[in-house]
Amino acid sequence: MIRPIVFYPAPVLRKVGARIEEVSPEIRELAADMVETMYDASGVGLAAPQVGESLQLAIVDVSHDEECISYLRVNGEEKTLAEICPLTFINPELELRGEKDTDVEGCLSFPDLRGDITRPFEVKATVYTLDGEKLVIETDGLFARAIQHEIDHLYGKLFIDRMTSAKKLAIRRQLKEMAQQYG
Ligand code: ZN
Repeated sequence: MIRPIVFYPAPVLRKVGARIEEVSPEIRELAADMVETMYDASGVGLAAPQVGESLQLAIVDVSHDEECISYLRVNGEEKTLAEICPLTFINPELELRGEKDTDVEGCLSFPDLRGDITRPFEVKATVYTLDGEKLVIETDGLFARAIQHEIDHLYGKLFIDRMTSAKKLAIRRQLKEMAQQYG
């Protein structure tokens, strides 16, 4: 079932999501709905707070372009994006690596806003599947960027927080309009 995506400035987007101690049938249903919702909105990632659930659960799928990364290792083994996406994960821990890289990002909770965001180019993410399997994911490029963006959501952090001061100033009016429309 497609769920409504919550838009900025919904307070749930600023909350730290609760860790998931037990994967209940409701959590499985939520995760399945989030995958459907993300594809419906043509996104490459969606975090539970974006559908109003303050939980450490997110989805990423960048498998539309195998060339958007230069490597992917899962638990030390080489994998393709198609083998692992859509990646549904809970309770992530993130280690940032490599040089910083700037690229344009969007966010499903900000329908009309895009902007350059600088982030580390590589990550090592330790996450858990809904079946309790631990996955250590090492990757770079768009997959690393999307994982960072979604994990930010789980801690109440939004991509606008990572924009330059000049960009923040430039989008001030848009944010104000969003606050009026969705607040
Ligand atoms: Zn987002």
